[in-house]
This record gives sequence, C-alpha cells and structure tokens, in this order.
Amino acid sequence: MINAASWVDIDLDAISNNIKTIKEYIGNTRLLVVVKANAYGHGIYPVAACAVESGADFLGVSSLEEGIFLRQRGIKEPVLVFNTVLPEQAEDMLNYDLTATVCSFDAVQALNDAAMKMNKKAVVHVKVDTGFGRFGVLPEHAVEMVRLIITNFENIYIEGMYTHFSSAMNKNITRKQFNVFLSIIEQLESQGYKIPLKHVCNSAATLNYPDMHLDMVRIGNLVYGLCPSKNLKINNPAKIYSKIILLKKLPKGHYVGYGSRFKTKRPTTIAIVPFGYYDGLELLIFQPNGIWDSLKNFFKQLLAGFGIVSATRKVKINGIQCNILGKISMQNCVVDVTDIKDNVFVGDIVEVNARRINLSHSLSRIYRRAGQVFSETDTAFTVSKVDTSSNAKQRRETSIG
Ligand SMILES: *Cc1c(COP(=O)(O)O)cnc(C)c1O
Repeated sequence: MINAASWVDIDLDAISNNIKTIKEYIGNTRLLVVVKANAYGHGIYPVAACAVESGADFLGVSSLEEGIFLRQRGIKEPVLVFNTVLPEQAEDMLNYDLTATVCSFDAVQALNDAAMKMNKKAVVHVKVDTGFGRFGVLPEHAVEMVRLIITNFENIYIEGMYTHFSSAMNKNITRKQFNVFLSIIEQLESQGYKIPLKHVCNSAATLNYPDMHLDMVRIGNLVYGLCPSKNLKINNPAKIYSKIILLKKLPKGHYVGYGSRFKTKRPTTIAIVPFGYYDGLELLIFQPNGIWDSLKNFFKQLLAGFGIVSATRKVKINGIQCNILGKISMQNCVVDVTDIKDNVFVGDIVEVNARRINLSHSLSRIYRRAGQVFSETDTAFTVSKVDTSSNAKQRRETSIG
C-alpha cells in the first residue's frame, strides 16, 4: 500500500556524482558500491543501475534474495553477497552468478557440489573475522582454510579475501584488525597462494586510511551522503516529504497524542502530517542500548518536555522548522504550526527528518536523473502517481477539524 501523501525524493545525479568523486579519490582501486537494505532506503534497483552506470566495478548486498533481484532486473556486474548462504541456497548462488562469501566448510561443500552439478566454478570471497565477531573464519584458521579449499574443492575459485572493520573511526582497533589481515595475506603469498581481490575498507576506513584501500573498497554510507567527509565533495541525494492533511486549533491545556505525554502551553495551531513510525519516524529518539543509552534517552525526553527537541523531532514547513508534538503515531504525527499559522495551508509540503535506512517500503520513491523524473514501486516502474506539488488551496486552521 503506497502512502501517496508522503514520498522520498532521490536525486540519482547526486548519487552518480558522489560515486565519481569517490572513484577519483581512490584512483586505481576498484569500487564496490553497497546496495544492501534497499540501497540504505534509496531503492535497490535504481541505485544499482545508477552505480553501474557511474563506474562501480562490483555491487554488494547482504542476502541472496537481494542478489537475485538485481540479476532479474538485468544487472550484469559482479555482485558480492556478504552473508554466508544456507547449503540449500548454493544452487541459486550459481544460477544467478552471484559471488559468495564463505567462512565455513558447510558452505564451501554446498557450493562445490552445486558447481560440479552445473559444470561451473563457484566464485567465492573468503571472509576473515579479524575482530568484528560476526561472519568470517578466525585468523588462526584462515590460511589453512584457503589451502584446503584450493587443494580439495575443484569447483571453487577463490577470487577474493576480505574482512570488515568494527569501528572504522577508531584508529587503534582498525590498525590492529588490518595488521591481522595483512599477516594472513603475507602467509598465503609466502606459500604461493595469490588472492586477486583483497578488500577491507568501508566508507569511514576509505576516508581515514588511504594505505588500507588494497584492491577494492566497499562503500555504502558515503555514496548516500550519510558519512561526513572533510575532503570530498559529497552531496545528500535524498529528501523526505509529506503533506499537511489537516489543520486545527487546540486550546491551552489540551493533550496531544498517545499517553497524553504533551499538553499545550498556549492556544496551539496543529498540523497533522500522515507520516508516523510505520513510515520510518523514530518512535523514541533512538533505540537504547544499555543503561547509559537509556539515561540519555530519558534526558532527551525530559528536555523535549521543556520544549528543547532534537532534529528528528522537527519538520520543515515553508522553510521554517516546526516541532513535532507528543508521541509519534503509527502513520501520523502532530506538528506545532502556531508561529506560522497565517501562512500555512492544508496541502502544504512538509520536509520530514527521518533515518533513510528505516524508511518504509510504503513510501513512494521519486527519482530524478538527467532532467527526468520517474518513480518505482517494489515490483515495477510506474508512472508517478504521487503529486509532489504543493496543492495548498484549502482553508487554513479550523476549530472543528
Ligand atoms: C554494509 C557494509 C559495508 C559498507 O559500509 P559503509 O560504512 O556503509 O560504507 C561494507 N562492507 C560490508 C561487509 C558491509 O556489510
């Protein structure tokens, strides 16, 4: 079900320019553009097609399903699947020519069996766990694993080897992980095993440690303008919009929202915006993790009670920042427009500040590319049904809304 009063406006030209800027910066190093998680909320297929057009050598996804989706849409470039596959998924990895991540012999065996049946070679990248504690073979087993794969599994081709940094902003932790990875590569090379594609850097590491670029870098956040960069000219490609669907006046002392968590302190004009936590607005300010985060959350809410609110609790209407009042509902939020009440109308466009990765599939994505505008739903390109113009013609605030 498409929420036709809310949409995400994505400038593919900006994504393309970001990719070209990154390519210029990394020089001869290959570029893998990460399009997992629906391209961080921007839409996997349009972004993948744009990335390939802009010079990405590889695409990266988390799941087999995302890889298949790209292939079914006609993407021909190499696609690395970061998650390891279940044995029963091995055949599809080969059918769709996807590059597998391996760190267990179960997966290696399943891929080898499937490849043998199809008279093919399964292309794999061996992942090493240098400290993240998720996917990857532990460093002490990595050399032996590569040796065993090469000597015992004829239908496996090890094209790459990689690791993932847990805290790319932390120099010490990252250096340590990098050195562990390098020592494995050195051991392999001294034994005569050459791995063509060695890669370790995500966005932050690519920016912070040019000496770690190796053969390829894997970039997500930076492509989407979600990673601050001092040196590169990276632009934000996306904005999130909705429209005011109702305006009304509340008297002083009236509650707003579930839990009666907010009470108006003055006669207040409110605008209802059909954008809630189902669409991707954060219900709480953030998900608390541990007691310290819970405390921070508590203080943020306390401050909100005094009218001091964080950016995600604000929306922009006609260029003016307005506060969201009370608890955010599933598909609506309530905005205080008292200060701009003489210049606000039903149908006015509202710019919403939500985390793009959390945006619901229910929102239409509107794409701009080379002067053209198009939209895409989950399953097909359609003519845009979303009216992105401000159709603010209706009456202003009413007290009987
Ligand atoms: C998500 C992911 C990346 C991209 O990280 P960014 O910080 O978004 O650049 C790179 N590598 C792996 C394995 C990932 O899962």
